Amino acid sequence: MRFDIITVLPGLLESPFAHSILQRAQKKGLTEIHVHNLRDYADNKHKNVDDYPYGGGSGMVMSVEPFAKCIEFLKSERGYDEVIFMSPDGETLNQSIANHLSTKENLIILCGHYKGIDQRIRDLFVTREISIGDYVLSGGELPAAVLVDAVVRLIPGVLSDETSALSDSFQGELLDAPVYTRPANWNGHKVPDVLLSGNQAAIDNWRHEQALERTQKRRPDLLE
Ligand code: SAH
Repeated sequence: MRFDIITVLPGLLESPFAHSILQRAQKKGLTEIHVHNLRDYADNKHKNVDDYPYGGGSGMVMSVEPFAKCIEFLKSERGYDEVIFMSPDGETLNQSIANHLSTKENLIILCGHYKGIDQRIRDLFVTREISIGDYVLSGGELPAAVLVDAVVRLIPGVLSDETSALSDSFQGELLDAPVYTRPANWNGHKVPDVLLSGNQAAIDNWRHEQALERTQKRRPDLLE
């Protein structure tokens, strides 16, 4: 699976993709993440990618031309399943969107800045708009990194224990159960006996009950 992320701040995306699971997924050849500097597609001398808003008001607006050029260049190289714009007014990212996108081949992700991007890019090129929550960040880079992380860990082979993604919160209707590791007794605080029992059926049963209880307490809406 391939991601092409278009941004005015490529440096912001270096670290998130250079560690841990995302790094390993790329090394294993399970995903390719390409970050494109929007300024490379600006024709003007100063490499400007934004301009004043028509109608006045505060904040700059990202121009059509550089995004259009970059998207058109990418599309001339290969087909894309979606052109995604990270935007606070898009559909809110959840596990089911991540699951769905993890089955795709090639995605373009656009990162906005300032006041946002010229509406014509959204009308003419964007096929899907995704928000990471009801709050406003200063740019689309962190949201893009969140989206890529959520999707890449679902690609078969990326997590070493494949079933671990399936037992995560939101994969079913239940949140994940509590987890413990050594020592079994830390300053008198003990790990539940059942987890040390070696009885897998009892452990599975306990985990299910805990997950149910946690979901009822924290997210009853998931059980409806
Ligand atoms: N004026 C816009 C916000 C612009 S914030 C509005 O009110 O909707 C600048 C950019 O940051 C956006 O274009 C978007 O790409 C990104 N961004 C900010 N918050 C985001 C969020 N919650 N989810 C996804 N992208 C976000």
